[in-house]
Amino acid sequence: MPDAVHGLPVMGFALTVILAWFGFAALALAVLHGRALAAMWREPVLVRPVLIVESDDWGPGPRGDAAVLREIAETLSAVRDRDGRPAVMTLGVVGGIPDVDAMRAAGFAKHVRCSLLAPDFAPVLAAMGDGCRAGVFAVQRHGLEHYWPAALLARLHAENGSNSEALRRWLEDGGLRSEALPPPLQSRWVDCASLPSVPLDPVAVDHAVREESDLLQQLFGCAPEVAVPNTFVWNDSTERAWAAHGVRTVVTPGWRYEGRDAAGRLLPPARRIRNGESGQGGIIYVVRDAYFEPLRGHRAEDVAAALARKCAEGRPLLLETHRENFIGPQPARAAAVAELRRTLGMALSMRPDLCFTTTAELATILRDPASPLRAQRWKARLAAWFVRLRNEPDLTRLLKYSGLAALLGAAAYLLGDVTYRRSARAGRC
Ligand SMILES: [Zn+2]
Repeated sequence: MPDAVHGLPVMGFALTVILAWFGFAALALAVLHGRALAAMWREPVLVRPVLIVESDDWGPGPRGDAAVLREIAETLSAVRDRDGRPAVMTLGVVGGIPDVDAMRAAGFAKHVRCSLLAPDFAPVLAAMGDGCRAGVFAVQRHGLEHYWPAALLARLHAENGSNSEALRRWLEDGGLRSEALPPPLQSRWVDCASLPSVPLDPVAVDHAVREESDLLQQLFGCAPEVAVPNTFVWNDSTERAWAAHGVRTVVTPGWRYEGRDAAGRLLPPARRIRNGESGQGGIIYVVRDAYFEPLRGHRAEDVAAALARKCAEGRPLLLETHRENFIGPQPARAAAVAELRRTLGMALSMRPDLCFTTTAELATILRDPASPLRAQRWKARLAAWFVRLRNEPDLTRLLKYSGLAALLGAAAYLLGDVTYRRSARAGRC
């Protein structure tokens, strides 16, 4: 009995030290990372898991591209969410390729475009259109070309022989596959005629975006509201031009890159981006930071792990993929489509409440605080916030060494049941 009586002040002291430690750690977190904490709190929390497959680089191509697009469409159509909606793959559309014959005739002194409107590409365009009408494809902007034409010409005529030789070979092959261009040239929205890059003239950017809108209007009957910056390099003037010509949403990897260094590498990001944040002209951002590139070894199990993480964070899962996974030799194409089928099936069996939608529709949900797909209850928001903090790379060290990570984990676990509980109000997405 006397031991217990003496133990009480000791326990009280220990408790005070522990509380003071966590209080100090929380204060340090708020002082050092206050803006990030607030941004993660403001970021919408979804009450249902959302999965969108985002693919880029589709455009002019041989008949085989049309065939694989139709195979993908069939695969998507066979997988339905509980509302009966098929899985959706967005198509980042590149409007044109170089008209190599015309450019050669002009001594490569000027750029000439061969657009997706050309009869040769009618099968690809028809496959895209049919998929859109079936609700399995949604087209997005990915540049009138996947390069800035003046930069391509400048590099072609540059003194540096190896660069211009590689470009000449690319052109002689028909210039069909933008994937084969040197990465700096694939950055359409910055001038990589020489390195380090410099910003483009905003007037020229505005003109290019208007031309792209006009072409997409002719191709699909409307200019898509979603833009995917090529290689994720863009700046405010690109956003202003997009906003002026109908873009409302920009797909990002969670960062904005604005240029390339002397070696052609991306410069450090100019800003961090979270779902639902606003840019120039009222556009909003979505974050695509998970990957499904079968050519690089990504498998259904990787997607399942990403889905689990995004569910706990109350964030949508936007899966990045590219045309190049689906246009190789037949065995590789078949394997990529089969892995897509397995991925979607696994995701749906893991989360029967999974919701398939387009990125444009997701943006509508992110814009609307009253959307039934968004958590309104503070418990659900708090649980998701705790998980976001634990998963934020910049906070990892502080959370781990202070012990706050364990505390947040326990708190998220206790509150966790409320996240993604099937809400009676959560209707079709
Ligand atoms: Zn691309």
